[in-house]
Amino acid sequence: MLVWLVEVYIENMPTQSVPMPVIFFGHGNPMLTLSKNRYTEAWAAVGRSIPRPKAVLAISAHWYIRQSAVTVNAQPPTIHDFGGFPEELFAVEYPAPGSPDLARRVQGLLSPVAVSLAEDWGLDHGTWTVLRHLFPKADIPVVQLSIDSTKRPQFHYELAKSLMPLRQEGVLIVGSGNIVHNLAQYSWEGENVQPLDWAVRFDQYVRVALERGDTSSLIDYERLGRDARLSIPTPDHYLPFLSILGLRQKGEPVSFPVEGFDGGTMSMLAIRFG
Ligand code: ZN
Repeated sequence: MLVWLVEVYIENMPTQSVPMPVIFFGHGNPMLTLSKNRYTEAWAAVGRSIPRPKAVLAISAHWYIRQSAVTVNAQPPTIHDFGGFPEELFAVEYPAPGSPDLARRVQGLLSPVAVSLAEDWGLDHGTWTVLRHLFPKADIPVVQLSIDSTKRPQFHYELAKSLMPLRQEGVLIVGSGNIVHNLAQYSWEGENVQPLDWAVRFDQYVRVALERGDTSSLIDYERLGRDARLSIPTPDHYLPFLSILGLRQKGEPVSFPVEGFDGGTMSMLAIRFG
């Protein structure tokens, strides 16, 4: 009887009481925004598999600056923050609205850490490469949160915990980077290149650690040796993953909606909690 009552109660709860998933995406090469392949199709499937969010808060590897900041623009510009790509990539626009209200809410939640309200940034390719497949209509407001490059990995993991209430409020928090991101050994032959052994091992290490709930070694990745050093030559593409990890609720299951490698040294792994 009690079980039945609990089930009825759960079924009747308003959708806001079910926390939104949190997802880390390996964004890979920005040309994927114009492609249709197994990675982009998996991104689109993620978009169909989750409740429609009220807004998206994106933590992108490509806004790696010496402070915490959120975009407060009502209409954030599409930023083409790369060089050497074809004209058609520079023509891409992702005209999602911003949300000054969400920006201020994030600022409030992260207090006493100082978070500036930025109007000199918008949506960079870490965000729009993926969101153009996830939400192609660009009709969901998007706010970006920067990564403070002066802070240690533990800081990013802990800071994200303060954003937990947003999951109950229908905000989709995404991290965008790559678990393995080594451009020095990257091959432009794309998804058909055999991934390097150390890259495969580190990608697998992360998955197993997540399944075991071994959070501390993932935060303390600098102690993990050669595979980790080659996979994370600079922290920018890994730290958005630690933010998403900080938003995992106790005992929450993990799934990997996108798997594989691009160019042999870029893990496309997506990691979803909830
Ligand atoms: Zn990138």
